[in-house]
Amino acid sequence: MKERIPEVVLEVAEKLSGAGFEAYLVGGCVRDFLLNREPKDWDITTGAKPEEIQKLFPDSIYENKFGTVGVKTRSEDPKLKIIEITTFRVEGKYTDKRHPDEVRFAKTVEEDLSRRDFTINALAMSPDGKIVDPYGGQKDIKGKVIRTVGKPEERFEEDALRLMRAVRFSAELDFEIDYGTRKAIEEKAGLLEAIAKERIRDELVKILLSDRASAGIILLEEVDLLRYIMPELREGLAVGQNKHHIYTVFEHNLRALDYTAKKNYSLEVRMASLLHDVGKPRVKKGDGPDSTFYNHDLVGAKMAIGLLDKLRFSKTFVEHVAHLVKYHLFYYNVGEVTDAGVRRFLNRVGPEYLDDLIRVREADRIGSGVPKAVPYKLRHLLFMIDKVRRDPISPKMLKVDGKAVMEEAGIPPSPKVGRIIAILLEEVLEDPSKNVKSGLIARVRELNELSEKKLIEMASKGKEKVEEFESGAEEEMKKRHYVK
Ligand code: ATP
Ligand code: MG
Repeated sequence: MKERIPEVVLEVAEKLSGAGFEAYLVGGCVRDFLLNREPKDWDITTGAKPEEIQKLFPDSIYENKFGTVGVKTRSEDPKLKIIEITTFRVEGKYTDKRHPDEVRFAKTVEEDLSRRDFTINALAMSPDGKIVDPYGGQKDIKGKVIRTVGKPEERFEEDALRLMRAVRFSAELDFEIDYGTRKAIEEKAGLLEAIAKERIRDELVKILLSDRASAGIILLEEVDLLRYIMPELREGLAVGQNKHHIYTVFEHNLRALDYTAKKNYSLEVRMASLLHDVGKPRVKKGDGPDSTFYNHDLVGAKMAIGLLDKLRFSKTFVEHVAHLVKYHLFYYNVGEVTDAGVRRFLNRVGPEYLDDLIRVREADRIGSGVPKAVPYKLRHLLFMIDKVRRDPISPKMLKVDGKAVMEEAGIPPSPKVGRIIAILLEEVLEDPSKNVKSGLIARVRELNELSEKKLIEMASKGKEKVEEFESGAEEEMKKRHYVK
């Protein structure tokens, strides 16, 4: 059993006990160890005070006031590079439901375990494998139960993030939440409002990255926490769709997420799949089999930006997800689309997003519950994309740049330069063989002679064609909303 504990972890614990201090592995790592899961990190708790720990481990960092010292090890493994050692402690009253008001050191490991959130996390293990388990954590691990240490209402009032942690562990471990704990979550759900968005985000990310991501989100809804996290998703709860769907908008979004979790796709793809139809309830027209959802892609992308910003996701993450939501509906029909159309499409969505976009599209299709057997369409698109992948598809790939245009036309930086570039790109997208410097330069001279009005008209032509590819002609557009 001991063999499964990494050597550097044992060394740290044994050094503490060798110096006469009690030392235990504690918390999530003991739980995961007993579950035969690989722990995310290995934490140690000890009777030694931070100063004493630092003396024993000269290569350590002590920067917070909660009594945690980070010890650098010789391991290169990111999980083992730094082992956190925390002095036994108990927490004072929580007045703001976010942070302990004070931290007091405790004498015994049992006291330290009493401050921990759930029985399965309130376990300690000495380096020789002895388990300290005052709250029945091992029994709850066997029974697959999440249960608070002590009275659930009180524990959630102390720190409302625990409301979400209960759901997160339930999703990650496939455990049930104990009845009393669950009742208390429902009762105290509103306390989540006082919690810092960053902390909520971090738990949400863990739920989404778990294998049971969709079950986790559904559970958030069942215990009434979702309204404090992503209220926008709830708008789809009772919203039925049209004849090409069998699920409500809410359930469809979740099924799409479920598919991406099964495929072990990235957080961006999971989030985009969860949010891909979030805009539908706001744009729904009509009812029953013929209802429509025009513009739900654009509306949904805006909603995604709003809600992800609020949860303090990074700017790049928000942009990535919103981009996938915005373009998830791309229209494609074998035989209707030319090479030039595919090049324009790539130019618009950005080739770096393409793989993710196709994953979201697949999730959408599978998540509809009635997937039309059209993966061959997608295969055809991939084939077309492969064919044009090396072609010039962005201004950067043009053989002339803005500077060359200004020199050749003898004009200063101005919108005119952008228009000329847009026209050149459009012509090259149409026919890549035109991407030759001498030819483009000659074309710049011709374009330079045209009127402003004409240039504007020509520059916007490309845009129109893009729209055509993305949404299809008006009639196609109508059909499109039923086709998955
Ligand atoms: P993970 O697998 O995500 O690392 P974990 O159980 O280790 O899960 P951490 O957030 O790393 O969770 O916290 C380590 C330990 O600290 C937990 O197992 C628990 O004992 C305790 N803990 C963490 N957060 C809280 C909290 N909000 N309230 C009470 N105890 C907590
Ligand atoms: Mg941990």
